[in-house]
Amino acid sequence: MKVIEHYDKATEPLISFEIIPPKRGGAVSDVFESLDRVVEAVRPPFIDVTYHAAEATVEEQPDGSLKRVIRRKRPGTIGLCAAILHRYGIDPVPHLICEGFTKEESEDALIELNYLGIHNVLAIRGDNTGSQISLNLNGTVNKYAIDLVRQIQNMNRGEYLEDIINAEPTNFCVGVAGYPEKHFEAPNLDWDIKKLKDKVDAGAEYIVTQMFFDNSAYFRFVEKCRGHGITVPIVPGLKILTTTGHLKTLPKNFYLNLPDELTEQIDANPDHVKQIGVDWAQKQSLELMENGVPGLHYYIMGDPQPALDVIGYLQKK
Ligand code: FAD
Repeated sequence: MKVIEHYDKATEPLISFEIIPPKRGGAVSDVFESLDRVVEAVRPPFIDVTYHAAEATVEEQPDGSLKRVIRRKRPGTIGLCAAILHRYGIDPVPHLICEGFTKEESEDALIELNYLGIHNVLAIRGDNTGSQISLNLNGTVNKYAIDLVRQIQNMNRGEYLEDIINAEPTNFCVGVAGYPEKHFEAPNLDWDIKKLKDKVDAGAEYIVTQMFFDNSAYFRFVEKCRGHGITVPIVPGLKILTTTGHLKTLPKNFYLNLPDELTEQIDANPDHVKQIGVDWAQKQSLELMENGVPGLHYYIMGDPQPALDVIGYLQKK
């Protein structure tokens, strides 16, 4: 089923998850061990799997010279999505990104997905990892997420990159990302929301937000989006803070603010950071549900237990 159909049919907020593929050489059984627990506890309607651009690194060669090496540390998004569909019968949502991929590679990936019976995609730009330098840019890559949304919608009309007579139209439901605290490159929130509206006008059927820890940022964002004429579901993305290291890495990597109340609680009791993070997410999730959100989308990077603790609490309410 398409993600938008899940939301359309839902009678209560949908609980969904986002996972990342293991690092190259990592065991897929670890992912299944996590997902087995998630599926047993919740049985989500869909599971997102992130995509990762290649990274450029400089590596020393045996003769002492330096060589620029481009490699993808986390391949396997499409394979993992197929495995999720096969193992659990749950709709997988692969993320497709612009960064590090040509339009033709994106088209190839979409053809693979179509053949596998996977008809949902989250269209994302990705961030510059240096690998794009190796690509000849002249129109061969998608610059922004909207360009990828347009490419997918073209395929949904049977328009591939080259003219193909009687090409079979694909049937993808496309989601995109939104930023309650504004994307870091955007000059202001309204400007960013106008760009988001463009993605919706190009065919995005729902929005998943960047993580946030202050619900007022999400509520303000949704109000502004509605004011700009965005009517599609805006699903809050939630991460559970579980280590004191997150106090630095989350704001640095995701350009978000942590509320004073949360940081003060952790400063006063760093040994209990995991419990504080879970309690915070429980409060956040409950308030979001009480305010009629379409769903709660949890980012689980490794251990799903903190998210399962939050959901267990919600199920008792
Ligand atoms: P875009 O929508 O392209 O926007 C990027 C910036 O460009 C914004 O500031 C926007 O306002 C601006 N902009 C848009 N259009 C134009 C235009 N025409 N002219 C000028 N400026 C414009 N990263 C990964 O690598 N893999 C993932 O799987 C992944 N999944 C994610 C899932 C979610 C829910 C979220 C919120 C983020 C995810 N990211 C992922 C991170 C994402 O790649 C970064 O946040 C990236 O910087 C922006 O991606 P985007 O799709 O929002 O970009």
